Amino acid sequence: MMVSNTTGRVFLVGAGPGAVDLLTLRAARLLGEATAVVHDGLVSDAIMALVPASALRISVAKRRARHTLSQAAIGDLLVELALAGHAVVRLKGGDPFIFGRGGEEVDACAAAGVPVEVVPGISSAQGAGAATLMPLTHRDHASIVSFVAGECRGLAAQNWVGLAGPGRTLVIYMGLAGSEAIADKLIADGLTPDTPVAVIERATRHDQRLFRSLLADLSGLIARAGVTSPALIIVGAVARLGVADSEILTLAEAAPCPIS
Ligand code: SAH
Repeated sequence: MMVSNTTGRVFLVGAGPGAVDLLTLRAARLLGEATAVVHDGLVSDAIMALVPASALRISVAKRRARHTLSQAAIGDLLVELALAGHAVVRLKGGDPFIFGRGGEEVDACAAAGVPVEVVPGISSAQGAGAATLMPLTHRDHASIVSFVAGECRGLAAQNWVGLAGPGRTLVIYMGLAGSEAIADKLIADGLTPDTPVAVIERATRHDQRLFRSLLADLSGLIARAGVTSPALIIVGAVARLGVADSEILTLAEAAPCPIS
């Protein structure tokens, strides 16, 4: 392992939405040169296979209500590894600067005088659109696209007015748990209950699934299909486009959709 007394460097690298060949060439090169990799839970084994066997691998997986390391502790860890001389790759799902807390990690490195670089990744919104043939913008359907965080905590304080509706695509990250409140919020903001929605689970992975319904049925759809994280919710006319829905084998036994 190449560890010297000189200060190392931190690379905040976007791992993309899952498929190994959706990494950038720069990300792949830096992974191959890393002496320490600090990764979160969304990073696939196939991507981790690019890391040299001799490199340190540290998982800081974060799941709802089960944090293994606080954000401050992750910043401290990156700084500590870099000061020990490591070439540190901080590997994050998607893009580091889209709901990736990359800004906080840049600040932690900068405050400690540790050189830091950011390598963009394909965000799950882009991966999900491509993998389901669902364009996020389309001249006939949407000319505005917004990315929002649908975490239940803090949802009420967010102002989404104008982000969704005719001619717009709203992509909601981290929205599964709060899906009922999300639909209520959008309807209260003026969206019609029959606005198309799509839910894309594990986009770009071999077992990705896509389900569609209408806004008023969003949480019902998620429950019937048994959607689990990671998944994106897409609201707007483009949600009707793309490949066919995944089959829901248990649908016949499930409650009927309230809107048809
Ligand atoms: N930086 C990441 C987002 C991190 S927030 C990015 O740019 O994609 C975590 C959320 O991203 C998840 O809750 C989910 O909403 C979404 N997500 C990440 N990977 C995904 C995937 N393969 N399919 C669908 N959604 C995904």
